[in-house]
Amino acid sequence: GHAQIGVTGLAVMGRNLARNFARNGFTVAVHNRTAARTRALVDEFGDEGSFVPAESAREFVAALERPRRLVIMVKAGEPTDAVIQEFAPLLEEGDVIIDGGNAHVADTRRRERELRERGIHFVGVGISGGEEGALHGPSIMPGGSAESYKSLGPLLERIAAKAPDGTPCVTHVGPDGAGHFVKMVHNGIEYADMQLIAEAYHLLRAVAGYSPARIADTFRTWNEGRLDSYLIEITAEVLAHADPVTGRPFVDVVADRAEQKGTGRWTVQIALDLGVPVSGIAEAVFARSLSGHAELREASRSLPGPVPQPLDEEAAARFAERVEQALYASKIVSYTQGFHQIQAGSEHHEWGVDPGAVASIWRAGCIIRAAFLDRIRTAYETRPELPSLLSDKRFAEEIGAAQDDWREVVATAARQGVPTPGFSAALAYYDALRADRLPAALTQGQRDFFGAHTYRRTDREGSFHTLWGGDRSEVSAG
Ligand code: NDP
Repeated sequence: GHAQIGVTGLAVMGRNLARNFARNGFTVAVHNRTAARTRALVDEFGDEGSFVPAESAREFVAALERPRRLVIMVKAGEPTDAVIQEFAPLLEEGDVIIDGGNAHVADTRRRERELRERGIHFVGVGISGGEEGALHGPSIMPGGSAESYKSLGPLLERIAAKAPDGTPCVTHVGPDGAGHFVKMVHNGIEYADMQLIAEAYHLLRAVAGYSPARIADTFRTWNEGRLDSYLIEITAEVLAHADPVTGRPFVDVVADRAEQKGTGRWTVQIALDLGVPVSGIAEAVFARSLSGHAELREASRSLPGPVPQPLDEEAAARFAERVEQALYASKIVSYTQGFHQIQAGSEHHEWGVDPGAVASIWRAGCIIRAAFLDRIRTAYETRPELPSLLSDKRFAEEIGAAQDDWREVVATAARQGVPTPGFSAALAYYDALRADRLPAALTQGQRDFFGAHTYRRTDREGSFHTLWGGDRSEVSAG
């Protein structure tokens, strides 16, 4: 075989990834369960580069040069296992299977372990950027062995997005499931970003009284500043769009029930297991589920709320500026939480993930790409042992400067009855971290009272228990 890489699974993602490899000068073997897709790819795009179509698994494997590099781009879950079972027996020691689907990190770890025993490298790769990214340059987050990256890295660097300074948006994130883990957190952060932007929109609409078109303009202005990002840019486009059928704003004709595929939920589930407070991501996931409970919302529609207080033009403009501050401050918190999860996951699995390198490869190609990520990269570069993004001097200064407006926005939202779970949770996280004393001391007292769970003291080492049912003296509990 002479193909440097193979792609099996030629739906939108796989097809575009195969084309990206071919356009970058690689010979690409292509295969799909339903052969019609393989033929369609070669018919439509065969002139873009060198494709080797294969109808059978055996033909596909035979088309690849050794060590073979084979990308699986099928529906995540059981189909991925089915494809691995089909191909693994045809492979030899040293060959590399790359799973580019959105796999759960536990699946990736299991597959990596099983294939390693057979001498095959299994590389779980997070790929972000949707179909456009797959074609023109995604952000790529590969896990798997360092050895496999030697053979794979140069190819991925060619097809990856390039950051503004020309660096390819790909790095060896860490062993086994590290790549899929980081991609999962990327998606969790994406949920939080989207929720925060949605709250900003809701406030500008309900409190400032702006039309969707005017909010689109506001977002375009914000996109020229520190909020410069893909998600703000596309939000402006969506808000400016008019429904061709009715002529009404597109956002007013779309059913307000958000759906989800699962990566946000996984982020929160795993954060719970790791004990990492990703409240912003959790609120974003819950906000989507809440929106979907049509019957619950219908039954609650007549519950009382505050009397609306319209703002005059000047007050509305001032409020919009405050919302920008609140959005930026909340965004800093979301990323602080997401990077905390990456660090916690990395420590738990001993992956050695470099958070600065992760920020670096998210600068282009992926959905959360933003000018902001360059600043995160700089923060970790300046201080690799940074315990939290909030400990970075610049972020601390910025969030400090935003806090008055942020509080005002959250208070206004509460007074005017606009739900802002993202802004509010972010502010609560900020204030909790700042607090000298938290009421957790009381929680410990309650736990000790009803369950003899013991507590620690501020002034002495050891664990203690109070004899709540007796004379309330304190005993040492080890
Ligand atoms: P889909 O997730 O819709 O999967 C369709 C592909 O899977 C087809 O090629 C299909 O083959 C194949 N397939 C399904 N079941 C099997 C099976 N049992 N055996 C063999 N092949 C099977 O395609 P997408 O291109 O949307 O996504 C591919 C992967 O990339 C997914 O894991 C997804 O989570 C991930 N991803 C998607 C993104 C996106 O924006 N869409 C972004 C980033 C990652 P057939 O043609 O024969 O039905």
